[in-house]
This record gives sequence, structure tokens and C-alpha cells, in this order.
Amino acid sequence: MTNSLPTSLPLSKLVTEMQESATLKMAKMARELKAQGKDVIDLSLGEPDFDTPVHIKEAAKKALDDGYTKYTPVNGLLELRQAIVNKLARENDLHYTVNQIVVSNGAKQSVYNLCMALLDPGDEVILPAPYWVSYAEIVKMAGGVPVIANSSIEQDFKSTPEEIEALITDRTKFILYSSPCNPSGSVFSFDELQALALMLQAHEHVLVVSDEIYEHINFTDRHYTIASMEGMKDRTVIINGMSKGYAMTGWRLGYIAGPDWVADACTKIQGQVTSGASSFGQKAAAVALESDHTPTKDMVKAFHQRRDLIINLLEQIPLLLVNRPQGAFYIFPDVSAYFGRTSTGGYHVKDADDMSLYLLAEARVSTVSGVAFGNEKCIRLSYATSDEKLKDAAERISKALSILI
Ligand code: PMP
Ligand code: GLU
Repeated sequence: MTNSLPTSLPLSKLVTEMQESATLKMAKMARELKAQGKDVIDLSLGEPDFDTPVHIKEAAKKALDDGYTKYTPVNGLLELRQAIVNKLARENDLHYTVNQIVVSNGAKQSVYNLCMALLDPGDEVILPAPYWVSYAEIVKMAGGVPVIANSSIEQDFKSTPEEIEALITDRTKFILYSSPCNPSGSVFSFDELQALALMLQAHEHVLVVSDEIYEHINFTDRHYTIASMEGMKDRTVIINGMSKGYAMTGWRLGYIAGPDWVADACTKIQGQVTSGASSFGQKAAAVALESDHTPTKDMVKAFHQRRDLIINLLEQIPLLLVNRPQGAFYIFPDVSAYFGRTSTGGYHVKDADDMSLYLLAEARVSTVSGVAFGNEKCIRLSYATSDEKLKDAAERISKALSILI
């Protein structure tokens, strides 16, 4: 008798049509090549190369010993939500109640909760491009339609209020962006946010989802949020988290701060999906937010120096266009001048996807194509790695590009 059990059954339309996360895919390819003994420099994944500060790890260990091993309230431990309220008051002069905070398994889940809570099929979300890879896919997962506002390196990758306004329709639910931005590193100034807020006065049905996860990694004088602009607090949902500013990517802790009705809806979604974030991690996050920020400041100092290092090296490459991002730990060079060229080894580079694969194959440097971020001319490099690796990577990239003729 033959065993006729199928090896797989049809998958859902949702997952079949969904794009895999390009950042995680490139990081996986780099990891696999490294496991094969290949000398790959991984500039694809956006995560601090620093370890979580010791006092935060100690707080998690203590929480375990103290018995914080059970479910927490779905929207997060009161102690952590209070620490977040305190942080928003202290650092942003924004005043929320603990009921307006929802803690999730990473800011990624905060984006997911929001999209699930706010979008009906056909609802539109304006994404100023370049945008973080997962925004468009999560919007689509929730049945929404991403509407892209394009920008270029010449405008520092920032869409103007006029360009955004031109995309607003009756179906627009919210505008979603990150500042400091992943992948461009661009930072909205006070004036730019004020102009955006002013434009939105004429469109009361549109909310803003402001992803501020790179808040601390900002090389300008200070971080500004649109939630502080006149009339905007009740129309803005702030997303933030522990991953970047506290080097806690693996802990999976993010949060939102927003109007009660949005927080309640996100809690309802989360109650059916994850029941909330890990208990002892939340205890440690409260300690991280309430304690001295010297480790964060030291990390930011290192990122600032590395930004200058990598930019100074890449600026010497003839056809590469680079700007000087003011935050996060990414640069997003325009590589389009190389499109249509072929390497001396026969590799034809027709677009940004090819360029990213070419650099992995030829230079053994892993990057992410701008296409996944809604930009067809650029590639993203994360400079959250050591000076030595950055110097080596720049040299390898330069050499690989020099043989494209
Ligand atoms: N937003 C942006 C802009 C990001 O770059 C990331 C990636 N870390 C996230 C959200 C998600 O972060 P996490 O889920 O690790 O909190
Ligand atoms: N946000 C980081 C990045 O853009 C981590 C990977 C991810 O979550 O997509 O690389």
C-alpha cells in the first residue's frame, strides 16, 4: 500500500501573497553563509551590536527570583506602564494615563495591533517612503491599502506636507512613519512636524502613527514628536520600545501611547493574540526606563562616530550618492548610477535587488535592497557594528563597485 498523505496542504491567500521580511531574509542569508565558513560582514539587520546593560539583565533575573513568572495584565504590568507614563512626561513633556499605554511583544506587534484595531478592508494608510519594511505588509495583512508618498535622497528622504496631503482621501485612516527613520536615518525637525500638523488640521479624520523607536539614537539637538504639536495629541499614537535605545531586541518589548479608545482596542486584539508581553522582561524594562541612561548615551556616541566613519569612506566611491542622516543607525545610499552595469565577472546589476545580492556574492557584505522599503534606487546599510568591520565593508563595497563597468 502506498502512503498517499500529501506533504503539504494549500496555505492561506494571506500568507501566500505576503512578502517575507526583507531585513530578516538578508540577515538569514548572511548567517547561513557565515555558518558555511564564509567571511561575511552583516550590515543587513538593524540591531545594536551592544549587549543589554548589566543592570537591566540583573533586574530580569531578580524578577524571576521574585516570582514574576505569571501572566501580566494584557496591556502590561502597571509598574511598567507607570514607568512609560513617567518617561513620556520627563523626556517628551507629554502627559498620558496608564490606561493609554499598551505594552506588546515588540514595537512590531504594536504596529500589528494598531492595524488590526483601526483598519477595515480598503482603508488606506499613507506611508511616506522610504518606510520600514514591515509597515506595508502589516497594513495589507489587516486588509488595508498602503498608499506610498515617494521621496528621494535630494530631499533628505522626507515627503513634504503637500505631497502627503495630495494622497489623502475619505478612506485614509492614518499616516505611519518613523522618525528617526528606518531605513533613511532622516529626522523630522520641529518645523517639519509643525507643518505636517498644520496640514492635518484640515483633515480631521486622519490619525498619525508616529514610530519613535529610534528616539534616543538622534544626533540632532533633541527629539521632537508630532504628538506635542497643537491639537495633535488626541490624534496621534506613539510607538516606541526597548529594542534600540536599550539594546534589547531579543527581549521583544514595545509599547504604544495614544487615546483611550485606541489603547482599549489594541488591548482587545492583544488579549486574543498573545495575552501580553513576558512578565520578567516587563519588570526589567521598567528598571531600564527609570534608571540612569549612561549606557544609552555611550551607545549613541559610538553610533555617531561610526556614522561619520562609514559616510566618509562611502563618499569616496565615485558614483555612490550618500547623505548624512541625523539618526538611527542606517545609511541609505543611492546606487542607481550603477544600474545597467555588469561586473568583470559577468554579474549584471539591473536594480537595487540585484545590487544587494551582488554585494553579498562579490563583496561578502550583506545589505538590504531599498525596494523592500519602497525605494528603488537605494540600498540600506546598518552601521551598528565595529569600526574594523565598517572599514573592511567599505573597502570591499568600493572594490566590488569598481569592477561594474
Ligand atoms: N519600527 C521600526 C522603525 C523598526 O526599525 C523596528 C525594528 N526593530 C521596529 C519598529 C520593531 O522593533 P521591535 O519589534 O524589535 O520592538
Ligand atoms: N527593525 C530591524 C530592521 O529593520 C530588525 C529586523 C526587523 O524586525 O525587520 O532591520
